[in-house]
Amino acid sequence: MATVLTSAQSSDVQIKQTKILIDNKWVDSVSGKTFETINPATGEVLASVAEADAADVDLAVKAARKAFNAKSAWRKMSGSERGKLLNKLADLIEKHAEELGTLESLDNGKPRHVAMAADIPLVIACYRYYAGWADKIQGKTIPINGDYFCYTRHEPVGVVAQIIPWNFPLLMQAWKLAPALACGNTVVMKPAEQTPLSALRVGELIVEAGFPEGVVNLLPGYGPTAGGALSRHMDIDKVAFTGSTEVGKIIMKAAADSNLKRVTLELGGKSPNIVLADANMDEAVEGSHFALFFNQGQCCCAGSRVFVEEKIYDEFVQRSAERAKRRTVGNPLDTKTEQGPQVDNEQFTKVLSFIDSGKREGAKLVAGGDRVGDKGYFVAPTVFSDVKDEMKIAQEEIFGPVMSIMKFKDTEELIDRANKSIYGLAAAVWTRDIGKAHQIANNVRAGTVWVNCYDVFDAAAPFGGFKQSGIGRELGEYGLQQYSEIKTVTVKL
Ligand code: ADP
Repeated sequence: MATVLTSAQSSDVQIKQTKILIDNKWVDSVSGKTFETINPATGEVLASVAEADAADVDLAVKAARKAFNAKSAWRKMSGSERGKLLNKLADLIEKHAEELGTLESLDNGKPRHVAMAADIPLVIACYRYYAGWADKIQGKTIPINGDYFCYTRHEPVGVVAQIIPWNFPLLMQAWKLAPALACGNTVVMKPAEQTPLSALRVGELIVEAGFPEGVVNLLPGYGPTAGGALSRHMDIDKVAFTGSTEVGKIIMKAAADSNLKRVTLELGGKSPNIVLADANMDEAVEGSHFALFFNQGQCCCAGSRVFVEEKIYDEFVQRSAERAKRRTVGNPLDTKTEQGPQVDNEQFTKVLSFIDSGKREGAKLVAGGDRVGDKGYFVAPTVFSDVKDEMKIAQEEIFGPVMSIMKFKDTEELIDRANKSIYGLAAAVWTRDIGKAHQIANNVRAGTVWVNCYDVFDAAAPFGGFKQSGIGRELGEYGLQQYSEIKTVTVKL
């Protein structure tokens, strides 16, 4: 049984913002409706939040369109000025880091100290990284046949809708906003209904930083309503989405059926995490544990198919089970907590049903297997060994603290098995053999491959999926392409 921490530490954070941000003004929804966001550690209501729907989307798009007008303050602003605003926002997030980290923990359930050590620094770094790009976005001059002068301009796409998930609310907001704003777009963003609070607080900091009216609009609300209205809207030029593959397909279809807005998608995964017999065992066990259990297992790139070479299989299973049993589960505000609750009852129930399916299909349960406590949405760190490729827990994205360990004999067979998935988001290999590491890195069909590490993120390194894990890349220089239109200008000399 995982250790349950009970020593409560109170949070002294105030929830300052629960409304919709349009044109730098905080407003109620047109319908007057609100929805509740809960604390998943207790099941209690944290706040009632304005519920945006199609009418609010229309108002926000009008504001964003006006802000994108050629004569607007935003469009006339130089790249270096945009960079200054992004840096100012990063400064303000840094100043309010404690408050934002606590909000994130309360609304999402992730341990506060993890939010402070991992999420917040990455958020700040992301805004700063793209602040640096804002005045370095430039086209090319191209020698073409004939007496012409030909050049390209990298222009902003226009009004961009951004729909983000609940697993890393602040970080997903940063990954989306920072490159879009660096390139000069205007944004209508919908945070996830489970976790709107930190995004709205950042909205206040965006206004404080001095972004002009209408450049960033924030619409808390539900997916099929507010999110649907965004993806169908005729005056939105692009939609950027992070979430499930299922919803990604709905959004792409809505984009096609409406105005063929550009679509970028960062979707689900079932990432192979490959442990070769020559790996450093301590690092492979701990790294694989982290790869799966980090963020309560709620990572699109979680290393959820652990392939272990036959020779070390038994030892790896035993040590992974021991490590999972030692994982501390409990109050997210306690600094000793490694794992908080799942984000809500729906996810909690879904994860438990996957655990049931693993048991039913004959996988061997070697750690966890049930909920923890009787309040909040805590799931025991769970490990299954003897998992077969065709089992549901090896095929579908669980998005929870459930590790599936599988055995393999040789690397040829392994690559085929690792690639036998509709997904292709990430992969990892643990080995001391540099040749094998590169061979696997080259042959596995995934957008990111980690060697002897996992979940190493940096604003400069692109991230995104092969196959049904998505379309396009976020972060790094590549991320700028997704928020730019290339214009070719040809001048007769
Ligand atoms: P998860 O299953 O992890 O909650 P979703 O893909 O359902 O992931 O949600 C990610 C984001 O997509 C959230 O902001 C959610 O509100 C939004 N969303 C859900 N359904 C739709 C939809 N039909 N159209 C647009 N956005 C949606």
